[in-house]
Amino acid sequence: MEENIADLFCSLVEIPSPSGSELEVAEYISRYLKKNGIDSYLDNSGAHIRSNSGNLVAEVGGSGPTIMFVAHMDTVETGSVKIRPKIKNGTATSHGNTILGADNKAAVAALVSAIIDLKKDNSHSNIIAVFSAREESGIMGVKYLKLNKKVDYAFIIDGGSPAGTFITRALGQTPFKIIIKGREAHSAVNPEYGRNAIKSAGLIVASQKLGRFQDGSTVNINKIDGGGSTNIIPGQVTILGEVRAFSPEAMKKRFSELEAHSRKACKITGCKFNIIQEKKEGAPPFHIGNNKIAEIAKKATETAGFRFELKSENGTIEANWLKTRIENLIGMSRGGKNPHSKEESIKISEIIDTKKLILSISKLKIK
Ligand SMILES: [Zn+2]
Repeated sequence: MEENIADLFCSLVEIPSPSGSELEVAEYISRYLKKNGIDSYLDNSGAHIRSNSGNLVAEVGGSGPTIMFVAHMDTVETGSVKIRPKIKNGTATSHGNTILGADNKAAVAALVSAIIDLKKDNSHSNIIAVFSAREESGIMGVKYLKLNKKVDYAFIIDGGSPAGTFITRALGQTPFKIIIKGREAHSAVNPEYGRNAIKSAGLIVASQKLGRFQDGSTVNINKIDGGGSTNIIPGQVTILGEVRAFSPEAMKKRFSELEAHSRKACKITGCKFNIIQEKKEGAPPFHIGNNKIAEIAKKATETAGFRFELKSENGTIEANWLKTRIENLIGMSRGGKNPHSKEESIKISEIIDTKKLILSISKLKIK
């Protein structure tokens, strides 16, 4: 088993797959599965996400609930320099001139290898394996994932903690614009008539707490735009920023604070304001809530003999998008070190551990 999975992993990382160009690796996975008696199909998401591939979906029938595992196929390399993996003392690295791509090809290898084992065995749940496109940049492929079946439980494999660590929440993101409308006037001829939009912006920025809040949410202001000549009282300013939060409630709270500060500032200056939340350009928060999947994850982890741990994630992950469609969903770590860098590495034993955990989840008797 060990040799196989290491070879499979090396073959996968040697195939370039920058975000949007996943087709070659998708075809490799599809052929590999076919040789082992498993059919797969590409969904039609490619057109929506500017990918030549879209998501690759394979199913292995069983009994009981339907469990989905997701592992993204794209990596952050540009594809111009071929990745040449090497394994020394059980640890895989690149030759030092590229990333390795263990993020997330280690998860892809573990998932491919696991479902091939499951195909030969009857005592497991219905399994759907999704090899997703464009996770690392732009709109995530899973946002448009097309499935023919209802999924009961979903595990999104990604992230550098050891197998047995699960992600229960990830920050959602909402970019915003505050448009402040004042009144232009000559600074010396009739300043009494003017309403200074820059002054309003200054008051808002000064009173709004920025950075991280106790509940983990964050507020950032990244740009202020407006104004003109020195002799004109500025009539319009736009403040740009973003709010990140673990729940819709926390998101709402941050925006109501921004609104209160804007109202207070504009009361002083006589300006008007409008806060626009650009939800479409952001991502919804991910939080598993009280659902059963953490229990399943715990049981399967203990059965496989690993340490169980729950964690939050400060970035946007595929779970943020899938949670809007699948109720029982959790992130699952795959291990490895220094992703997105030339120092990236992973132990082959970590890939095997991820495979063991996938098998343990798949074979768990779920009532
Ligand atoms: Zn990743």
